Amino acid sequence: LRSPYSGGHLEVVVGPMFSGKSEELIRRLTRSLIARQRVAVFKPAIDNRYHASEVASHAGRTLEAVAVPDAQAIRAQLSGQGELLSAAPEGVDVIGIDEAQFFGPELVPLVLELADAGVRVVLAGLDLDFRAEPFGSMPELLARAESVDKLTAICTVCGAPATRTQRLIGGQPARFDDPVVLVGAQESYEALPRAPHRAQG
Ligand code: ADP
Repeated sequence: LRSPYSGGHLEVVVGPMFSGKSEELIRRLTRSLIARQRVAVFKPAIDNRYHASEVASHAGRTLEAVAVPDAQAIRAQLSGQGELLSAAPEGVDVIGIDEAQFFGPELVPLVLELADAGVRVVLAGLDLDFRAEPFGSMPELLARAESVDKLTAICTVCGAPATRTQRLIGGQPARFDDPVVLVGAQESYEALPRAPHRAQG
């Protein structure tokens, strides 16, 4: 996958968990870094403070990133108010954001503004939540992107391309009305195709 666009634009990489979104984000941003482009990488912070962190793929690859509580904090970082990143938007060539689905609707105007200002914006995130419903502002970001790549994982039960993320609480599939974000619960996730193949027993 490569970008056929010059100048500012928006690229979005989506798919279920384990589909390689973070891997692909890291791959694209690493190429830019090798080409000596100025790259800023962000991800959502679990707590309310921004801090130095990294984007990590399930296969273990990592890239330095700034964890931020919200889209406004990305704006603050880019305008030089943050300590971790001093570059103004006009000093950044590429901005990568992982787990984009966790940022609120204010991410949309921010990334459009950046793309209009000449920045290449690469977003990675879940297109669907565990109920297979469109996740947050991802539908609008997908609609407004110049480039969309929808990746699949592999279903560990049947081997089919997996397009959805199944949420398990205590080993059991979550109920539709469980909250999308459940802090502190014993939960895990697996990637499944549209027609689920649940292991028996
Ligand atoms: P995402 O960001 O989409 O969650 P990552 O880039 O973090 O995905 O991880 C992708 C990697 O996860 C794969 O290269 C592979 O090593 C691993 N992996 C684990 N489970 C699966 C699965 N069911 N299908 C495909 N890859 C998987």
